[in-house]
Amino acid sequence: MNPRAEIVRLDKQYVWHPYTPMDRYLDEVDPLVIDRAEGSRLFDVDGRSYLDANSSWWVASLGHAHPRLVAALTKQAARHPHSSLAGATHEGAARLAEELVAVAPAGLTKVFYSDDGSTAVEVAIKLALQFWQNRGQPKRRRFIALDGAFHGETIGATSLGGVEIFRRPFAGVLLECVHVPSPSDDANESFARAFAALERVITEGADTIAAVVLEPILQGAGGMRYYDPEYLRRARALCDAHEVLLVLDEVFTGYGRTGPMWASDLASVAPDLLCLAKGFSGGMFPMAATLATRAIFDAFLGDPERAFYYGHSYCGNPLGAAVAREVLAIYRDERILDHAQRKAQRIAAAFEALGEIPGVTRARSLGMTGALDLVVGQGYLGRTGWRVYEEARKRGAYLRPLGDVIYIAPPLNIPDADLEELLTIVRESLIAALG
Ligand code: PMP
Repeated sequence: MNPRAEIVRLDKQYVWHPYTPMDRYLDEVDPLVIDRAEGSRLFDVDGRSYLDANSSWWVASLGHAHPRLVAALTKQAARHPHSSLAGATHEGAARLAEELVAVAPAGLTKVFYSDDGSTAVEVAIKLALQFWQNRGQPKRRRFIALDGAFHGETIGATSLGGVEIFRRPFAGVLLECVHVPSPSDDANESFARAFAALERVITEGADTIAAVVLEPILQGAGGMRYYDPEYLRRARALCDAHEVLLVLDEVFTGYGRTGPMWASDLASVAPDLLCLAKGFSGGMFPMAATLATRAIFDAFLGDPERAFYYGHSYCGNPLGAAVAREVLAIYRDERILDHAQRKAQRIAAAFEALGEIPGVTRARSLGMTGALDLVVGQGYLGRTGWRVYEEARKRGAYLRPLGDVIYIAPPLNIPDADLEELLTIVRESLIAALG
């Protein structure tokens, strides 16, 4: 048996894949079997290369196996792979926290480490709830999030999620979260009506609301929905006026995905809690952080009963910290955001043109993302996107869709030639699948 067949046999016998109807997978899917990854490409066991259009679920913002990240990880692994932050610390966790605070939106001065995007959000949820408890307002238990929001997989993060199919199995056990209309322009509500709905919920129930949680400017997993920075500005003002916390989930949008370092920079807004993951550790190693203001931190002082009793085994782990510090250094040294600007313009122009292809109902782009709607109304279970995926795979790109939304979110440092090749493959694949 060749290695590919053996791997697929074992996989199909034992592995339960994420976000996958497994009967269909077992019967119909011939999976990519990836052997190695370098730069903007994945290579399968037969040596074929695939441009990684989504940076492997948005983590590899600096491409795969960046030599500096590999060196940082291996050097750290040889010296000090792990010790906990329980009554101990280490240089990586301490210096990384300082470096994060230096680049974060103003006012975020404390760093709580965790493992991935979901736990970064879970930390924010628990901090918000306990903050109000400690401040003597225990009725503030509810959250507000957007229709179509995605914030992760834990029960807390799922509660915030606004994609019905991901929530439905857990109805009844989720935290209380009011979902308000999305301000994104493909939502049915106009921007002003969306904001009015948020305003109504906050004005009517501020003393029961712990926090508003938003993916700033770009709702990713819910279908690549962009919205006007003005919504974020007004949401911040509204939260301030009613003393509601604002949590921004920059797990996807952070590290320059939408242009500036943080999508919230597009609105000149700083949150009370900021969730970071994915690009945070550059696709090398899972690690995440939730940044908090001094006011939130202070509410946990004064009595051991007020402390935050929370922490994962690998919280602030030295491997992740070493990689995350090197990620920030590469952003500085290689001027990643500056160089991405030109590539973003190229994506914008290309996606505008892709919008003309018959069968594409809407095209949009922002920063190092571009998205196309294929068929209105099919949502996450739509199948047209998968036809495009198959065509792209034949042509050498990994273009996993979000239902009938085709999108790219390549590494920010994708070489120009690779970007051109990817855009050509997207075009050809669309024409082949929709024609
Ligand atoms: N927040 C956002 C905005 C996300 O897009 C995701 C994952 N796609 C998460 C949180 C969860 O991150 P993770 O998969 O690393 O747990």
